[in-house]
Amino acid sequence: MQQIAHPVTFIFNKLPLHQRVMLGSLTIITLAVAVWSPYAYRCIKDIIPIVQHINLNKNHLSTLPPNAKAPIHQVTSKIKEKLPIGNIRKDLPDVTAKSEYTISSGDTLIGVLNQYGIDMENINALTNRDKMLRHLKVGQKLSWTIANDGTLQLLTWKMNQRETRTYQCSHNGSFTMQSSKIQKGEWQKRVIKGEVHGSFAASAQRAGIISSEISAVMKVLQWQMDFRKLKTGDNFSILISSKILNGKSTQSKILGVRLRSGGKDYYAFRTKDGKFYDRNGSGLAHGFMRFPTVKQYRVSSHFNPRRLNPITGRIAPHKGVDFALPVGTSVMTVSDGEVVAAKNGGASGNYIAIRHGQRYMTRYMHLKKVLVKPGQKVKHGDRIALSGNTGRSTGPHLHFEVWINNRAVNPLTAKLPRIEGLTGKARRNYLNQVKSYLPPLNFR
Ligand SMILES: [Zn+2]
Repeated sequence: MQQIAHPVTFIFNKLPLHQRVMLGSLTIITLAVAVWSPYAYRCIKDIIPIVQHINLNKNHLSTLPPNAKAPIHQVTSKIKEKLPIGNIRKDLPDVTAKSEYTISSGDTLIGVLNQYGIDMENINALTNRDKMLRHLKVGQKLSWTIANDGTLQLLTWKMNQRETRTYQCSHNGSFTMQSSKIQKGEWQKRVIKGEVHGSFAASAQRAGIISSEISAVMKVLQWQMDFRKLKTGDNFSILISSKILNGKSTQSKILGVRLRSGGKDYYAFRTKDGKFYDRNGSGLAHGFMRFPTVKQYRVSSHFNPRRLNPITGRIAPHKGVDFALPVGTSVMTVSDGEVVAAKNGGASGNYIAIRHGQRYMTRYMHLKKVLVKPGQKVKHGDRIALSGNTGRSTGPHLHFEVWINNRAVNPLTAKLPRIEGLTGKARRNYLNQVKSYLPPLNFR
């Protein structure tokens, strides 16, 4: 293109003004037709004639009527500005045109390539080489190159993450095929056993477990145990599945964990969908109840970060919700956890604070009687107190708070972990899997 364009520019500049005007107009009109053409690939055929027009300019212009220059004289300078040859070259496609297409529902190879002007002879030659091309799937990618005579030169079919096929046109019009296939790794199971020295995370990392997997384990077991209370010499054993590719482990995931601390065993196993359950298929996060009582009582005062305190008369946040209930009503812990406070708290009256895992805490106030001790482990639904009217209180009620990450939230609306467990067939499959995972996790 460049080789043609230079002499053209030269000739153009040597022409008398009125001829330049005519030539400019012709070019503009031809360009307009080319640009208007709806498909990019057609531009190849349409644009090449532009150059041909220019090459014939002398003959064309000599036959123009003498009055031709008058009406368009005024636009001459504009036309000159709009004829930067460099720009035109840049806008034109090269001798070959490359296209890309992502298969959507209902697409066929014939349908797609026809749409881009590739003829049936070409397409048949392709499908003769590889009949699989008749079964394109949604999401696969095709890309191809068309020569300036409109024939298909090269087609690439990205079948999936692992395989790409390339078809190259040979001289006799048939296609050669090349397939580049990424080798599929093999999953291998292995058991890593270790002792706790320092933190669990550090100990597991030393044993060769990646940190994202370690935090997954800690997250699921936090409801059963406090990782900070693990002692030196506590045991863990982790069944891990690694993807081995060319002799190297490229990816790994934990299938099962057994942790022994203080003579007690804790288990977590992964299902196919990546969730962890205990050895009986119960959810490891036992979830929260919305209310700390069997019955739902009337709310006498809502959670309100800007409440006017009825006793002090000052604006003070009401960090929980008040339920109006008779003195002596059973109060239950809303989730598994550990009692971190159980005492007379002055304005709070007798109160209890329970920590659930690493992120959650609940508090129960104005109690008549506290039934648990600090350090005690409690289970979802355990009775922990009798409600009362102690401390700064205007009547029998239970003040109940939920804290997430050290922030009080509205107990009636806060997002809390749901109770999840496996049931039916999923549970049976899971228990079978657990049976095969247990022996390798033995400590001896
Ligand atoms: Zn309250």
